[in-house]
Amino acid sequence: MSAFESYKETTRLLQAHERWFQESIPLIASENVSSPAVREALASDFGHRYAEGWPGERVYAGCTYIDEVELLCLDLVKKLFKAEFADVRPISGVVSNLVIYTAFTNPGDTMMALSIPCGGHITTGKKRLGGTAGAVRGLDVQYLALDYRELNIDVERTEKRVRKLVTEGKTPSLVMFGASVFPFPHPIKELADVFHDVGCTIGYDAAHVAGLIAGEIFQDPLKEGADVMSLSTHKTFFGPQHGSVVSWEKFSEQIKRATFPGMVSNHHLHALAGVTLACAEMLQFGKDYSRQVVKNAKALAQALHEVGFKVLAEHKGFTESHVILVDVTEQGDGGTIERGLEKANIIINRNLLPWDIREGRHFMNPGGIRLGTSEVTRLGMKESEMKDLAEFMKRVVLKGENSATVKHDVTQFRKEYSKLHYCF
Ligand SMILES: *Cc1c(COP(=O)(O)O)cnc(C)c1O
Repeated sequence: MSAFESYKETTRLLQAHERWFQESIPLIASENVSSPAVREALASDFGHRYAEGWPGERVYAGCTYIDEVELLCLDLVKKLFKAEFADVRPISGVVSNLVIYTAFTNPGDTMMALSIPCGGHITTGKKRLGGTAGAVRGLDVQYLALDYRELNIDVERTEKRVRKLVTEGKTPSLVMFGASVFPFPHPIKELADVFHDVGCTIGYDAAHVAGLIAGEIFQDPLKEGADVMSLSTHKTFFGPQHGSVVSWEKFSEQIKRATFPGMVSNHHLHALAGVTLACAEMLQFGKDYSRQVVKNAKALAQALHEVGFKVLAEHKGFTESHVILVDVTEQGDGGTIERGLEKANIIINRNLLPWDIREGRHFMNPGGIRLGTSEVTRLGMKESEMKDLAEFMKRVVLKGENSATVKHDVTQFRKEYSKLHYCF
């Protein structure tokens, strides 16, 4: 391909992707779409600039307007998360977690978090798995205990593990609550004293649930005992892909220093402007939106259950967040089902079930699929549409219907949902 052909091909691929997603049902729990205003900010001149340092104390000239936007952003983030302190410079959730590790641990320290099959994220993973905490920060990762039936952290067993670590001379210096499969609020309140009594900092990874926390429909980690919280701004939140760390004033200096000069040089100022707009949208529409996200997740889970899927945690209403986890071992494996649904323009992701590794299943072909309702909610879908989605999924996965036929119907269905909701 010549240079110009590659150029044209790239443009064509971008357009093809846009069209495909406009004709699809987006159910990836870590994704969302942002408003036209936010997308415009991403294309602004802010994206060409540097603003190293803190507003008013920059290392570069030309930051007059950037500083004002960042100060607005700090104000809005603090308001939304009821926090004394915020740092909005970390460029992603991963970088936000690295900021926390840098500010609150030393290499060689013990950190506790959920394992990946139990819903944990690669950022809290062990060294041998290449996880950020282990492989990048050199932390010794020990696992929080998960109750498989409740799909939540087991308070008693976790308390025992902490005591055992203390007697082994491996007292944790940081615990990270939060997860990537996160249907129920974590027991921070119940475990806060257990960790604080041994001098352990309590972190909370709100990558997935930031929008639900801001909308006051999930839990309030800082109030419940967390010392510091990391965010992704684009999963249940409204923004473009970015991160942030929120905390208390007493930790402000160590967090600021971990971010810069530690973790960022440029901090994606175009995205920062987008996050600022998204925060304003969240302040205005977040309560309505987050309530509908959770209602939709419950409705989708119920509808899938009724058509014959095995949705986990039925005895407690399936979920209190945007996420649901489905055991598909009766139908095949998560990888094959993911591909089958993709052919019908239904975009979901395969996911490990907590007991998969023990039962010999691998991440490529796990026993589960994970679904999230943030994006379909922003597209204006409500409980009755969740029944339509369950029906489409049934036709592909349970009835084995030709994916081209279902794809055609999905494309028709999506035409009614082309406008973005919950924005100015
Ligand atoms: C997605 C996710 C992250 C990483 O966020 P990015 O913004 O993609 O870097 C961190 N922690 C958890 C629990 C996540 O699910």
